[in-house]
Amino acid sequence: AKDLGRGQTVDFEDSFDDDTNRQAALEAQLRTTLAAGNIDVAFQALFDAKSGSICGVEALARWITEGGDRIAPDVFIPLAERSGLIDQLGLQVLKKSLQAATSWPAIGLAVNVSPLQLKNPRFVKQVTDALETADFDPRRLSIELTEGVLISDPEQARRAIDGLKAAGIKVALDDFGSGFASVGTLRQFGFDRMKVDRSLIATLDHDQNAGAVLHATIALANALDIPVTAEGIETEAQAEVLRVSGCDALQGYLFSRPISAEQFTEAYFNGKRD
Ligand code: C2E
Ligand code: CA
Ligand code: CA
Ligand code: CA
Repeated sequence: AKDLGRGQTVDFEDSFDDDTNRQAALEAQLRTTLAAGNIDVAFQALFDAKSGSICGVEALARWITEGGDRIAPDVFIPLAERSGLIDQLGLQVLKKSLQAATSWPAIGLAVNVSPLQLKNPRFVKQVTDALETADFDPRRLSIELTEGVLISDPEQARRAIDGLKAAGIKVALDDFGSGFASVGTLRQFGFDRMKVDRSLIATLDHDQNAGAVLHATIALANALDIPVTAEGIETEAQAEVLRVSGCDALQGYLFSRPISAEQFTEAYFNGKRD
């Protein structure tokens, strides 16, 4: 039994070390990719609920390692946050997104920002500098924030949101309905837009109560003049419910997948010329 006990301990430590080593190796690769400016950005179109025409685009970070492995954002964003690389990653994504979007007609550009980036006192200045360098109208940029930061450090969140808004940049509350944020939260922090979380959209298919709650929430936001985007729409039935509920922008695989800047230009702004 003693041997077995020791064996188990050794096994546990081995697997622990393996995992730590894998994390360290991945972090080193991310560092290299960032230093080389090789984080990619994919672009997913947003569509006006009434007219069906393109009204915006969300930038989504993409990472293919030098070894050719595609790592999911849900893996490398937390990794970047843990290893102090998120500021660099966020800024790289922002600059590349602005660069791509300047060549597109005046549609809105949404960029995701980690709560940790708001901790950097230079954050707002970095964003406005990037806008200036790219000669991009601040009113076309929307920063997407998740509610975590509102709870962990509301004062810091408020300062950053106020700073962005003072510069003419819009601020959206992402993943609404996945946590605690209410329509009151939107008002309290001055959010310009609410993005309904994909998990809520998915429940529409099998839960009538969820549909009623969603409908009421969107109506309330609209009553407060806060426009609503629905994300993660995969079926025409979902799209129809959300149109009727009063969402003004729709996003999801039903309409468009995230694609490269070149593909995006081709699909939405160039296709007809060819
Ligand atoms: P998010 O901001 O909620 O972005 C939407 C996610 O849903 C994206 O996943 C998108 O590809 C996916 N999606 C869009 N339409 C559909 C659909 O119809 N069905 C399904 N199943 N999925 C859909 P992605 O690109 O894997 O990104 C995951 C998350 O990683 C993002 O969620 C965001 O929180 C984070 N992220 C991505 N890029 C960045 C970034 O540059 N900075 C930061 N801080 N976070 C980022
Ligand atoms: Ca987002
Ligand atoms: Ca979201
Ligand atoms: Ca999300």
